[in-house]
Amino acid sequence: MSKRKSGGQAAESPSPPAIVCILVVDAIIDEVEVEICCQRIGGVDRVFSTSMDWLHAERPSEDSLAYSVETLLFGIIARCLRYVGEPADVRAGLLSKERVWAIVSSVGLEMDEIRRENKLWREAKIVTRAAQLGLALQASHFSRGTWIACCPGTNHTLELRPTQNLFYCGCCRVGGGIDELDEFVARRRSTAAGFIGGRTLH
Ligand SMILES: [Zn+2]
Repeated sequence: MSKRKSGGQAAESPSPPAIVCILVVDAIIDEVEVEICCQRIGGVDRVFSTSMDWLHAERPSEDSLAYSVETLLFGIIARCLRYVGEPADVRAGLLSKERVWAIVSSVGLEMDEIRRENKLWREAKIVTRAAQLGLALQASHFSRGTWIACCPGTNHTLELRPTQNLFYCGCCRVGGGIDELDEFVARRRSTAAGFIGGRTLH
């Protein structure tokens, strides 16, 4: 059953969304098709996924829509790589397959470069301390000046800022320097130990 919205009562009639491309992403469990559309509406150029409402980017309609699409697609693909997975295939829309692949590989190179730069901070105090505390660590390949660790006892992403020797977990809203990291991890582990002790008979 396919119902199409006819016209509507909108005073302005913005251009309908057009498909930019479809990324076939090799996600952990299955392949996911991420349809990316664009639309010029109310002075704003939007590029967005039709299935993932968090995956979108906008800029003012100052240039051609095609220019906006190319500009915004870098950020969209970077977030797609980060949160969904790597594209295994691409289907063309407004952009050719070759153009989309070129953007995907350029985003990949940028990510490699960011990780390489971040790795240079391996010796920073906050990073070495986190390693001593046994936190699973890696240099971020998404943001500069960032290492990421697993927030103890959770699946949160704990961010380390080696340039300032600071850490922060956005989910726990806890952060600080090296002393605060020591306290935070110790508190987490004692809570976890208490919890396990309370739940087992051994
Ligand atoms: Zn946390």
